[in-house]
Amino acid sequence: MGILTMKKYIIANWKEHPATLVEAKKMIRELESALSAYKNVVPVVCVPSLYLTETRAALKKAECGVQDIFWRESGSYTGMIGAGMAKSAGAAYAIIGHSERREYAGETNDMTQKKIKSALAAGLFAVLCVGEKTREDDDYIGFVRDQVKEGLHGISARRAGKLIITYEPVWAISSQKPKELDSPETTKEMSIFIRRLLVDMYGQAVAVRIPILYGGSVTSKNTHTLLTDGGVDGVLVGRASLTAKEFAKIVDEAALL
Ligand code: PEP
Repeated sequence: MGILTMKKYIIANWKEHPATLVEAKKMIRELESALSAYKNVVPVVCVPSLYLTETRAALKKAECGVQDIFWRESGSYTGMIGAGMAKSAGAAYAIIGHSERREYAGETNDMTQKKIKSALAAGLFAVLCVGEKTREDDDYIGFVRDQVKEGLHGISARRAGKLIITYEPVWAISSQKPKELDSPETTKEMSIFIRRLLVDMYGQAVAVRIPILYGGSVTSKNTHTLLTDGGVDGVLVGRASLTAKEFAKIVDEAALL
């Protein structure tokens, strides 16, 4: 799909890497020199929040983002970071509902919904991650449907212009499994399914403009196939985004389309 979505989104998720600010600055310098600027590709780097200000200041060739936000703007919420804070420190994007947050921080669909709402209200692009844990679950389609519908409950079509959905099957993240498991056909089926849900929720005109990305063991070698045969509008990249040259190659692959 993505007929009307001309730009490809290539989003790096650094997760809890690197270990120090000194290393982060080195990675940012390497990335800035490795990346090429393309009109049809939007590279985004989602760093640990503590590195955001430095990243924004040094990185000219990519947008910046965070990997989570809290749904309240401010108050007695120890340890939390609101969407407005992230924006004022340089974020334009927020990953929300990543499977690792669902697993390690007990995040529910209801919590992701509040975070999406807050991110969009602050003017951030909200990158909602959905995906089944295993294909052995007979109702894995229903699981993803609930993540999309509940995560976007009450989000208006007017706000949907800054929405991005990432289909990230948990079994494919940093996967050691055989490559045939994350075939482009699987990605295509699920991106079509998610697009249909979006059409039901927002109507055709709005739904076709919402980018649908794929995440899970993306490298420069499988990017082209995922973006063509997989029918997605971009990729979310974990491990491979930690090497500047490899991330830049993924961006180059997307630019060829
Ligand atoms: C992720 O967890 O967001 C991810 C895409 O990781 P990886 O690329 O390492 O599978």
